[in-house]
Amino acid sequence: MIEHSGMKLKIGWLYGAKMNIYGDRGNVVALSQRARWRGIESEVVEIGLNQPLPDDIDVFFFGGGQDQEQVAVSRDLQGEKGERLKQAVEEGAAVLSICGGYQLLGHEYRPHDAEPLPGIGLFDAVSTAGPERFIGNVVIESEWGQLVGFENHSGLTHLGPSASPMGKVVVGRGNNGQDGMEGARYKHALGCYLHGALLPKNPALTDWLITAGLTRRYGDVALAPLDDAIEQRAQSAAISRAKESR
Ligand code: GLN
Repeated sequence: MIEHSGMKLKIGWLYGAKMNIYGDRGNVVALSQRARWRGIESEVVEIGLNQPLPDDIDVFFFGGGQDQEQVAVSRDLQGEKGERLKQAVEEGAAVLSICGGYQLLGHEYRPHDAEPLPGIGLFDAVSTAGPERFIGNVVIESEWGQLVGFENHSGLTHLGPSASPMGKVVVGRGNNGQDGMEGARYKHALGCYLHGALLPKNPALTDWLITAGLTRRYGDVALAPLDDAIEQRAQSAAISRAKESR
């Protein structure tokens, strides 16, 4: 029996009041609840505009948002805050960023008819608003198996030489509708276009993020298994529906 009593997981929710669309909040709930089901205390800290980045966060979550919301968030991430987030990743912290959040963790997001929004360059990636909005179900092949979610974005993301994708598109348009790749990964930091929320129906990915976060705080950690029958059924139902809809 793997023992977790006395352990704590600290979740940093970046810009939850501004960047939270298409069920993104569900990712914070999934991280928190799957820790608690194992007897791990979990604390969620909201980190909004003009608020400093605490230095003891294990897992960061950064949701999506419309162009107008991204303007203030992009400005707020410049300078020390963005540098501290990058430093936290260098020190092992985990990050899950979705869509608009993902775009602002790259070098830049260029919206339609507006000034380019600088990112922090955690991912070697640049996003530019395209002529068409990509909306629909998404399935990708990844190291966490098949992942399923929902995309709704005009931004087209192109990865640079030092970025690796999070997965390969099976259903949907992905980063840019051309190279068949979805998302980006750097150390324990992930970015992708999968709303939904993503984590409740993709438990392997949730546990990978929790493990990465706890490993930062406690050294090597193995998570006690959970009964994921419901999650697995939800995932396979969503994957079949996505495949039918393509
Ligand atoms: N505003 C960005 C875009 O349209 C991100 C949208 C989102 O987060 N869903 O691409």
